Amino acid sequence: MRVALFVTCLADTLFPQAGRACVALLERLGHRVEFPPGQTCCGQMHVNTGYQRQALPLIRRYAETFASYDAIVVPSGSCTGSVRHQHAMVARRFGDERLARRAEEVAAKTYELSEFLTDVLGLEDVGAYYPHRVTYHPTCHSLRLLRVGDRPLRLLRHVTGIDLVELPDAETCCGFGGTFAIKNADVSTAMLADKMRNVLATGAEACAAGDSSCLMHTRAATAPRGVGHLRGSEPFPVAARRALADSQLRRNLAKVTTTIRAKRARVVGELPDWEELREAGRAIKARTMAGLDGYLEQLEAEFTARGGTVHWARDAIEANQIVTGLVQATGATEVVKVKSIVTDEIGLNDALADGGISAVETDLAELIVQLGKDRPSHFLVPAIHRNRAEIREIFLREMDGVDPGLTDEPRALAEAARLHLRRKFLAAQVGISGANFAVAETGTLCVVESEGNGRMCLTLPPTLITVMGIEKVVPSWADLGVFLQLLPRSSTGERMNPYTSMWTGVTPGDGPQRVHLVLLDNGRTAALADETGRQALGCIRCSACLNVCPVYERVGGHAYGSVYPGPIGAIVSPMLTGIEDNATLPFASSLCGACYDACPVKIDIPSILVHLRARHVEEAARASRVPSPEAVTMAAAAWAMSDPARFAAAQRGGRLARLLGRRGTIRRLPPPLAGWTRARDVPVPPAQTFRQWWAREHRDPS
Ligand code: SF4
Repeated sequence: MRVALFVTCLADTLFPQAGRACVALLERLGHRVEFPPGQTCCGQMHVNTGYQRQALPLIRRYAETFASYDAIVVPSGSCTGSVRHQHAMVARRFGDERLARRAEEVAAKTYELSEFLTDVLGLEDVGAYYPHRVTYHPTCHSLRLLRVGDRPLRLLRHVTGIDLVELPDAETCCGFGGTFAIKNADVSTAMLADKMRNVLATGAEACAAGDSSCLMHTRAATAPRGVGHLRGSEPFPVAARRALADSQLRRNLAKVTTTIRAKRARVVGELPDWEELREAGRAIKARTMAGLDGYLEQLEAEFTARGGTVHWARDAIEANQIVTGLVQATGATEVVKVKSIVTDEIGLNDALADGGISAVETDLAELIVQLGKDRPSHFLVPAIHRNRAEIREIFLREMDGVDPGLTDEPRALAEAARLHLRRKFLAAQVGISGANFAVAETGTLCVVESEGNGRMCLTLPPTLITVMGIEKVVPSWADLGVFLQLLPRSSTGERMNPYTSMWTGVTPGDGPQRVHLVLLDNGRTAALADETGRQALGCIRCSACLNVCPVYERVGGHAYGSVYPGPIGAIVSPMLTGIEDNATLPFASSLCGACYDACPVKIDIPSILVHLRARHVEEAARASRVPSPEAVTMAAAAWAMSDPARFAAAQRGGRLARLLGRRGTIRRLPPPLAGWTRARDVPVPPAQTFRQWWAREHRDPS
């Protein structure tokens, strides 16, 4: 039997591994597979988008390319469906009966892969081994156009080691639909969100499907580009080098982080059950992430039942639109804001400004950052990079009505800010906040802060809008109690937080009477889909990992380019944006592990950093045919080191480096090792390696 592979244009271009796996499988089953190079595309995209005349040459090409084969195997239910049901129909529509008949003949020999295996070869067990939990998404075209029925499932059930779990609501469309995903992007992604929720609910490590296009679509969306502050304008090493040259910044950072570290150590040391508390925090977060969809729905129901309004925002663009629209509906042109990292993540202040609304930051440090036209550089101390003299200068330059005799005494600076903000609080019609926690069982939101300014924002304006990442929900008040112990000791080094504000919907006649909650995804579902990386969503933004990180202490927050700096930023930012948009961040760590020790919810940051590095290397290898010098070096080293004889030979070769040395050191190495010798020497390899010494010393005397 002459078997041809029609790889499809999409798999050929984006998923060549699907074609390679198909060939490997068929060859292992004893078939010689041919790949006719004249093949291109089945024309389905044109037909389904209404361009049937333009599809004609593609249909003709398919018929001509595959006419001489006994069987054509296609790793796509959708393209097989197009060949079978559309080719002849389109040819007839344009009066080409000859092409229609030819198309019918070729279509009769065209098989989707599972059809070929089960119907033509009569196989269900193809000898596959895959010891993982897998769920199966039956794509609409394979299900309804092609009627493959349970053939793919029969094949999957025979895979050795597989734990096949049923996908809830499996037969509902994922929302791809070809150009539907572009022309009706909002509806498409709403359908996708439901599909993703069901896939995640299975706990499967992999979701299998018969169409690469649907699988491509079901990759959860990452945070969009061009909005918000999750991506820097330059790689970490470049930004870090500049930061390192700022000696004032390094002095400020060292002073503040040393002080907070000591305070934290003191109060943590008071608790004999600190480790048990940390474990409880970790366990609650893990349980919450496992049932996140259910807790969010419960939160929505409870919040709504108590008079609040919940809005769901897929990403930063949508969240900004929602908040801007809500403010505009009140007629306000100025809002007061509680310190909130998530609103900085989405670039809310810029979006409000575009809508004619000015946002006033009311946390003292955030106010300094805003007036200084600057960016925050620490969760807890956003103006950590500024000293008192600089703050005085900013106030004198930017603050209306400030006393020209203002000194840089902390009390004087705080009083100037107080007078400035008090006027803003009393006039504000809208307050905007983030939330540290949201209790699902009662729909209660919680903000913790140290100054009391946040409480004024939360209670004085008649309208309150809260933007919250979906990961901030906690199931119950008992769970909240754990975090209210962990957070202040880990962040400010205090036993309890000075101001803990909670509100549950609307209380008639008391506080804001219009209360909104915007639940933000912005790449969090994509992070949730990463089984190793999802731990990062447990972060309670205490900043303990920043304060103990030797890298952060030397470069500060701006070098990370994202609102999430330090060790947690190095894992959260790439997961929200997609690794390649923040590819240098997972490498911004010496893997010392201090962050893991300090984290109150035991996020294993070093392991996630290593995991993300692997994802980056794999994605970069897929994206480029030309390996980087580092990849070539690593591959060569692995080849040499995987065999003792090759390793010994490489060591002998390495001794040539002795020629580069002077007085026992080598001053300059070529790329990719040049970074090492930019700051230090390398010792010249000794004349004899250990293994050579051992071989000589332990020669068998016989
Ligand atoms: S990762 Fe842990 S230590 Fe770092 S900010 Fe988040 S909760 Fe705190």
